[in-house]
Amino acid sequence: MDKNSSEMTETWLIDLDGVIWRGDSLIAGSDEAVGALCAANKKIVFFTNNSFPTASSLTAKLQSMGIPASAENILTSSMAASRLLNEKSNVLCLGGPGLYEALVKSGHRPVFASTILSNAISNTEYASYLAYYAQSSFPQTVSAVDDDKSLVELTRMGVEFFTILDEIADAERFDACVVGIDPFSNFATLALGFRAISKGARLIATNDDSTYPMKSGLLPGGGTVFKILQTLTGSKGEVAGKPYEAAVELVRDTCDKVAYVVGDRLDTDGLLAKQLGAKFLLVYSGVTSPHGKSDTVLPFVEEENLKKVVYAILGI
Ligand SMILES: [Mg+2]
Repeated sequence: MDKNSSEMTETWLIDLDGVIWRGDSLIAGSDEAVGALCAANKKIVFFTNNSFPTASSLTAKLQSMGIPASAENILTSSMAASRLLNEKSNVLCLGGPGLYEALVKSGHRPVFASTILSNAISNTEYASYLAYYAQSSFPQTVSAVDDDKSLVELTRMGVEFFTILDEIADAERFDACVVGIDPFSNFATLALGFRAISKGARLIATNDDSTYPMKSGLLPGGGTVFKILQTLTGSKGEVAGKPYEAAVELVRDTCDKVAYVVGDRLDTDGLLAKQLGAKFLLVYSGVTSPHGKSDTVLPFVEEENLKKVVYAILGI
């Protein structure tokens, strides 16, 4: 991504989920497609809206699938989100390691909401609250429920924890609360985010996808916690990933001559291509089916998968 290189080659901006892989499985032929682009001397940059993994873990995953990549060829919605902040911001991080890494690398001071909670409750009985659920043998009959000590104990712990959470949430002040997908999000981390924004922190989301596709179905997406916080606080918030302005600027500042954007989503990849003035190549190996197209973005070429689309453009 050397913007000042004297010999500019055209850049291909390629999405990961639904284009290179589905979950942990390589989409057949995408390694050959990247190989063909390299052989044709094209510059390849991977851009994912998934904010959770670090750049180095994405690089390692690509390499394990036989696809050459280095951290400098990776762009993520976490990197885009980091660019929306003022210099050296104190950030409450409601996301994963990839978001944390991007914030640190951009000179900000992030702290995981989970870390604040863990520090506050370590060595207290609340640290074992979940273990209490796991270990207790709860009564199954009405008469036993009435007398059960474990349910009374859980009630006491829960009620007290609301008060503790109220104190923890009030202890710190943040410039921004940045939200990304995190499978360990919970009521308490949401409470910290809610309070931080109520006290003046900006609400920023890495992306606003409402769902996250998995092998057996959908899980809540990165945009879920963002939408809850929007509802709770009345703040509109800002979104950073594809196809929003921060993502467009990230690409403009780090890549040159983006000729093609390849993706499986019209509302993110397709719109990004449009903003960049690049040609959009749609693949049907991810979330979009041939019947699920919109009129908003017209793909330059659409094919079953990356291999077919690359071979069509290269004339192989
Ligand atoms: Mg995708």
